[in-house]
This record gives sequence, C-alpha cells and structure tokens, in this order.
Amino acid sequence: MNEQSDQQKKITIGARLVGAVIGCVFAGIGLTVLGALWSGALAAPFLFRIFGSFVAIPFMAIGGFTAYSAITGLGLQKSNLVNSASVSTKQGSYSCPNCNAPLSDEFDVSPHGDVKCEHCNGWFNIHHA
Ligand SMILES: [Zn+2]
Repeated sequence: MNEQSDQQKKITIGARLVGAVIGCVFAGIGLTVLGALWSGALAAPFLFRIFGSFVAIPFMAIGGFTAYSAITGLGLQKSNLVNSASVSTKQGSYSCPNCNAPLSDEFDVSPHGDVKCEHCNGWFNIHHA
C-alpha cells in the first residue's frame, strides 16, 4: 500500500520534472530564436524575422505554461477540478418539471430546447423550465 503510493509519488515527480524540462527547452528555443532574429546575430530579412517571431511566440507560451504547470502542479489540479465541476453541473443542471427526475448526460435536445423526459415520457423545454 505504502510502496504503491510512494511509487505513484515518484512517477508524479518524474512526470513533473520531465514537463518542467520540456517546458524550459521549448521556452528556451523560442527565446533563442527571438533573440537571434532581433539582436542581429542572424542577418535575417525583415519578413523572416516576423515569421520567426510567430513561430517562437507559441513555443515560449507553450513552454512557459508547460513548465509552470509542471512545477506547480496547478495544471493537473485545475483540470481535475474543472472535470469534476463540469460533471456535477451537467448532471444537476436540468430536471423534469413534471416528475422532477434529473436528466441523464445523454439526453437529446432539439434546437429549440425541447427535451423528452426518460422517466415520465413528457416533453418540456429547457429554456422555459
Ligand atoms: Zn419526467
């Protein structure tokens, strides 16, 4: 039991470390490209500098975000929170006004918001409920 959780911890730390390293590498590539293009280290034409910047910016954004979320673990926690929150709101968002039964996740809604209740087979509208 303890051994298992220890192993999981190691995997999480390892995954975070890999994420942090990859993130830093990505951000570093973006920074290097940007710096090389605009510092004059590369005799690049103006258009190529613009083009290179567009390539470099997402590299830095993705790299920075990956490293940040890997180090802090915020990305993992956040996505877990979002998942559980969206699931709970999904299940509790609509209920049948006739029999009060909560709607399942796979209920069919017409473009006008008409829904057929699986429990009492009655129709109602989610927009006017
Ligand atoms: Zn019903």
